[in-house]
Amino acid sequence: MSRIAVVSAMHPELAAVLAWLPEAQKQTVAGREFVLGRWHGQEVVAVLSRIGKVAAATTATVLIERFDVQAVLFTGVAGGVSPLAQVGDVVVASAFVQHDMDASPLFPIYEVPLYGRSHFATDTALTAALAQAAQAALAQGLLDAAVLADIGMHAGKGSGKTADQRTAQVHQGLIISGDRFVSTRMESQRLQQALPQALAVEMEGAAVAQVCSDYGVPFAAMRTISDRADDDAHADFLKFVDRVASRYSAAILDHFFTQRSR
Ligand code: SAH
Repeated sequence: MSRIAVVSAMHPELAAVLAWLPEAQKQTVAGREFVLGRWHGQEVVAVLSRIGKVAAATTATVLIERFDVQAVLFTGVAGGVSPLAQVGDVVVASAFVQHDMDASPLFPIYEVPLYGRSHFATDTALTAALAQAAQAALAQGLLDAAVLADIGMHAGKGSGKTADQRTAQVHQGLIISGDRFVSTRMESQRLQQALPQALAVEMEGAAVAQVCSDYGVPFAAMRTISDRADDDAHADFLKFVDRVASRYSAAILDHFFTQRSR
């Protein structure tokens, strides 16, 4: 039977995932703890990616080489770069770019040398299923205005709307990754100008996408917007991960595995 990898970027998210895998078994490889279990009958292996592109690439490689996974699902949080991606929204990736890859003038900026491209697309079917699961989870009011108010944040921060005028949305599009926590308005604006398609910025997805592409393993990823990658990003991020992000990931994955078991 096929095995699916569930990769979380942060500890609270992994903890919420592990709550669904009561009979799980653990194995340590390359200093990472891989947890093997079943989610609605589907064999899964859950692991923390760790932070940054290299750590995430190592994790993805071990998942494929040692655990023989047939698909990789990534959940985490990200900074919203596009005005569309507001705190509390979910972005499902259709493709990834490394925003800090620049071997110019030898290669065009963002192009991964010797790959002949900058964009690494996610798997279409898996991505559609993940987006559907995210829609289903959000439709249950997983993160409504009341929850955001509780942690002292505003839904649709920066959109000019108050919390109760906006409900969380699911977007699908480009996510950019780099080894930098983007925490100034200036850098976020620079990224938006350089990569106008980008919805969100994080630190691991493009690396996992590249490894999965190398091995021909289907990959899909979702990120909950925890901050606007601006001057408030640090404070927003910490509050959000602690109180909210873990609920999102586990609920969306639960919908995902429920759909698959039907
Ligand atoms: N000290 C933190 C470090 C987290 S780094 C800790 O508690 O571990 C931020 C993580 O969230 C990364 O995994 C990254 O993928 C994602 N992320 C969220 N907002 C981001 C932003 N504005 N810029 C870059 N990555 C962001």
